[in-house]
Amino acid sequence: MKLEGKTAVVTGASRGIGRSIAIELAKNGANVVVNYSGSEEKAKETAKEVEAAGTKALVFKADVSNADDVQAMLKETVSTFGSIDILVNNAGITKDNLLMRMKEEDWDQVMDINLKSVFLTTKAAARPMMKQRKGKIINVSSIVGVMGNAGQANYVASKAGVIGLTKTSAKELAARGINVNAVAPGFIETDMTGELAEDVQASMKQMIPLDRFGKPEDIAKAVVFLASEDSDYITGQTIHIDGGMVM
Ligand code: NAD
Repeated sequence: MKLEGKTAVVTGASRGIGRSIAIELAKNGANVVVNYSGSEEKAKETAKEVEAAGTKALVFKADVSNADDVQAMLKETVSTFGSIDILVNNAGITKDNLLMRMKEEDWDQVMDINLKSVFLTTKAAARPMMKQRKGKIINVSSIVGVMGNAGQANYVASKAGVIGLTKTSAKELAARGINVNAVAPGFIETDMTGELAEDVQASMKQMIPLDRFGKPEDIAKAVVFLASEDSDYITGQTIHIDGGMVM
């Protein structure tokens, strides 16, 4: 039990990678705040699995791009569990289109939910973490934030921004005992990627040396490592979890 007695907030934890991260953190002993913005029913399902692993869950509705929602979530976390030890910034969306056809509102929405959210949650969580002089922040970026990807200018810029924000917050918060790292998933089988056409999926697979798509658990296990004392000497890094697509 690497995370016994710790409290984690996982954003966008009702499904996909976030759900898997919440469950894996619980299996390692952490109480989990299951953040959601859409389906309460799905969030409750994640919470049930957290509790089945033997820890406590708090389901909390918050739009991560809204500062008041984020403040309220972090306040409730500390008042319910007494601390916030782990923050996982997982919530994210895509609104794909070619640059010349991309609407300004789609640019703004993706930047707000994928990047501004990380700024807001980091500020809100770092305050109590600074008092504790301990904390782990893990941001979910993407390998396209490193490589670029046609048709995803907003998403790519937001995920590259997450890597930059990870490095800067790691430098600013290191003296306060807070580690900040990122994971950059490749092609992971979730609802987000399930929407891609079959021929796109097939051509993506050809680019993966390990010859399979990733599973949400592949990301969740790395997040547990970054949330645990095993990674105490690692900060400001982005771990690519992509079957070798980017090397
Ligand atoms: P998903 O669409 O299944 O899950 C995203 C979650 O974020 C959902 O639960 C959604 O409700 C939540 N969310 C969206 N807007 C929100 C908001 N304003 N406030 C709170 N929650 C909100 O996607 P996924 O594939 O599980 O992706 C999870 C993360 O991993 C995302 O940041 C995504 O960009 C990143 N990622 C995914 C892949 C992949 O291949 N699936 C690859 C690279 C990066």
